[in-house]
Formats: sequence, C-alpha cells, structure tokens
Amino acid sequence: MHPAEQHDFRDETFAGRHVLVVGLGKSGMSSIKLLKKMGARVSVSDSSEKGNIDQEALDRLRQEDVFVETGMHSKELFFSADHVVVSPGVPLTASVLQEVRAKGTPIIGEMGLAARSMKTPMAAVTGTNGKSTVVTLLAGMFQSAGKKVFLGGNLGTPLTEYVLGLQDADIAVVEVSSFQLDTAGAFRPDVALLLNITPDHLDRYAGFDAYAESKMSIFAYQKPDDIAVLNGNDEEILGRLHAMPQNRRFFFSEALGNRLGADFTDTVVRVVLSEEERSRAEYYDLSESRLHEEPNVQNTMAAILAGRLMGCSQEDVQMAIRTFTPLGHRLTVVAEINGVTYLDDSKATNIGAVYSALKGMKQPVVLIAGGRDKGGEYGMLDDLVRQRVKAILLIGEARERMSKAFHKLTKVERCDSLEEAVARAGSIAVEGDAVLLSPACASFDMFAGYGHRGEIFSKAVMDLDGKGH
Ligand code: ADP
Repeated sequence: MHPAEQHDFRDETFAGRHVLVVGLGKSGMSSIKLLKKMGARVSVSDSSEKGNIDQEALDRLRQEDVFVETGMHSKELFFSADHVVVSPGVPLTASVLQEVRAKGTPIIGEMGLAARSMKTPMAAVTGTNGKSTVVTLLAGMFQSAGKKVFLGGNLGTPLTEYVLGLQDADIAVVEVSSFQLDTAGAFRPDVALLLNITPDHLDRYAGFDAYAESKMSIFAYQKPDDIAVLNGNDEEILGRLHAMPQNRRFFFSEALGNRLGADFTDTVVRVVLSEEERSRAEYYDLSESRLHEEPNVQNTMAAILAGRLMGCSQEDVQMAIRTFTPLGHRLTVVAEINGVTYLDDSKATNIGAVYSALKGMKQPVVLIAGGRDKGGEYGMLDDLVRQRVKAILLIGEARERMSKAFHKLTKVERCDSLEEAVARAGSIAVEGDAVLLSPACASFDMFAGYGHRGEIFSKAVMDLDGKGH
C-alpha cells in the first residue's frame, strides 16, 4: 500500500477496541500479545485448517479470551473488527481484506504496530537483496562498540517481541521487507537504508512501480534530521528521490562525486561523512575480510555509513568487518571437486540476486536455477548468461518459463529434481568451472525453504564427491 493510502495510526488507541489479527504465525502471535497488553479485545483468523496449527497455542489463546477462527476468513468477523492487523505473509490483495479496506477499517502490520511503542534508536534496512547481510554486519559494529543491540524484524525476532520487553538495547537494527512497509503505519527509523530495488514479488504487487514505491516508503515519515543511506548507482532509487521528504542523505556507490557517503577502489572503501571531511576521508580495507567481493562491497559500504553515523568509531567498524562471517546459502562455497567449485546461493530467490552472483563469477558457470516463479522478467540476465553460463539446468515449476527465456542464449536442460541437476552439472563442468545454485525463484514448490534447498544441494554435491566425480 502506498503511504498515502495507508492509515498512519499515530493517534489510534487500541484499548477496548475489537482488533482482528490475520495469520497465526510468529508475527501474528507477537501482535496478539502486544494488543492484549494495550487492552484490546482480540480475535484471530487463520485460513489454515485447525489440524495444521499448533494445538497448544490455540488452547492458550482461548484461555486468554482470544476468539479464534481457523480454516477460513469469515466476512462477519472481519466486518465486526475496528482494526485489522495482518501478517506479512497475507497478501493485501486477498478479497476479504480489500472489502474491509473499502469499508474504511484501518489495516496495520505487526511491525507498524510495534513501531508505535518503540523507544530505542533504530536503524532499518530494506532493499531487494542484501538486507540480512547488512543488518548482521551492522549489529556486529555496534557490538564491537560495546553496545547492547536488538537485531530482528523480518529476520529473526519480530519487533513486537522487543517492545513487549524492557526495551533495554542501546540500538535496534531492524530488517524490513516490502510487505512490512506496506502496513507500517507511521514507521520512522532514525537511519533508513535502501540497498537496491530490482524486480521481486511481482506476484503480489500490481507491477514493478508499486513494488519500488513500497521500498521507498521506508523514508515516508522521516524528518529533516533523520538519515537516509542510499545506493547511489541504483537508477530506480535515484529516479524517485524527488518524492522523498527532506532528510540527510548519504550515498554508497562506485564513485561518490560531490555527494556525501562511501565509494571504493579495489578493496578499499573511502568514506566522506561531512563537507569538512572531504579532504581527509576515512578508509577501510576489506582485503583481509570475507567481504571484499561484490555484492558484499556494496553491503559493507552501506553498513559502514550507518555504523559511523550512529556512533561507532572507525576501530569498531573495522573490527566488525574483519571478523564478519558471511551467512550461509549466500554464494557459499560447499566443495571443490576435481577443480570444479560448487557454490550454494540458494538465498538468491529473485533475478537481481542471480545477476549479482553471475556478475561476480570469474569462471565459466553451470547454473542450477528454477523453483516457484515470482513473475519477474529474466531479460536482465541475458548478457551475463550469454557471456558466462555454459549450461543452465532447470528445476521446479518455473522450468518451462525459464527455458523459453534462456534457450537461445545457452544450453538449457530440464531436470526433475535438484539431485538430478547436480549430477548433470557434475558431468558437464570441467576443471576451472563453477557449478552455481542460484535459483532466481522461491523454493516452496519443492522444499521447506531456501535453507532446505541449500542443504539438499550440498548433500548432492557430497554424493558426487563420493562417486569420484
Ligand atoms: P536479503 O535479506 O535481502 O534476502 P541476503 O543478504 O540474505 O539479503 O542475500 C540474498 C541474496 O542476494 C543472496 O543470494 C546474496 O548473494 C544476494 N545479495 C546480497 N547482497 C546483495 C546486493 N547488495 N545486491 C545484489 N544481491 C545481493
């Protein structure tokens, strides 16, 4: 939802009101706790059948006088609510939500609800790719500085859990998805980072423009003293700056020009935080770290800016960079067999992530891709596929669509399982090549999640090794 269409909830009180929580996942459960604490009368509706929901949780909710509906979303319940709280997993395009919205019932999400009660200074990170890496690195910088950090949001602990507790962290580092931004109310981070915007989740948005606007809305409620950290090479972001409220802007890019922010040469990042410092910039050497390759150089520049602007010293920042361990399933080398490197990039669930993976590959690539299609255009990958990919092995629901997109550019084969794709890759790749799992798709058609998909990949690679490939 565009901020202009969103109810901002700044003056809303929930005490004594009937609030309906939609979705009984982790964030839904946290929202219920917070709403009860606020004195609301709470109901919950989850379209999953009762048998698929944790029975203990259901019993507990009933004991706490929460009305629970499962297996459906009934209009009566939705229409009787004063407010609706949605989980990020529930599309706002669901017909019953459209109807309550048309009737004027305000809709908010778990993060928007929590943000109203937030007292701790907050850095919030969004973007199509790199969020988890940046929040983890940034939290590490504050930890190096001896600060108590809350790290959560879209990754890990919901923000609601934090505001339900003592709020005793010095700083909150929060990962924010576009779905969360769509129902964020008057969410206002002290420092907001926007890493990039490339097509994703087009199955849930009216189009790319709507998705891009959603990402930009992280700045919607910022005030002139609040800080924006932006990708200075991203045309989508730059083209939308005119609509941003007044705030303090810092850019990370290949060449900073006369802006404030960060750029880099080889593996050295240069940081200029104020006009006075332009002639005596700070430098950070990434060569001794595990962040010296793209796309992590960009992620590191973004985190450095936020860390320095929020009080970390240069030493704290440098220490966190040096000791950072990349998260798994993001371009992770799982094995080297007979001179072929096998990389697990299962977290690459959209086309932009695959683009950045291929761009960074120096060897010829056998690419394993496919899964549940998200409606994006694969054309963005054409040049890189032509130049670097000797074969693509496709799995999952997107096989046909992707095959049509790529068959004129390189050799394309369809496989029935990930194990079969790995075995085929093992026989196609020769010494000096890389086999890269970078799916460009969600995993849920064949796997429990991207982590599961990555584990099956690693296991299949180990099996190859055992067979003496
Ligand atoms: P997110 O939390 O936004 O999904 P992750 O850090 O988990 O981001 O990375 C997701 C995928 O995107 C991985 O495949 C990773 O290699 C790739 N990636 C990470 N940072 C970037 C970036 N800045 N630009 C493009 N792709 C990136």
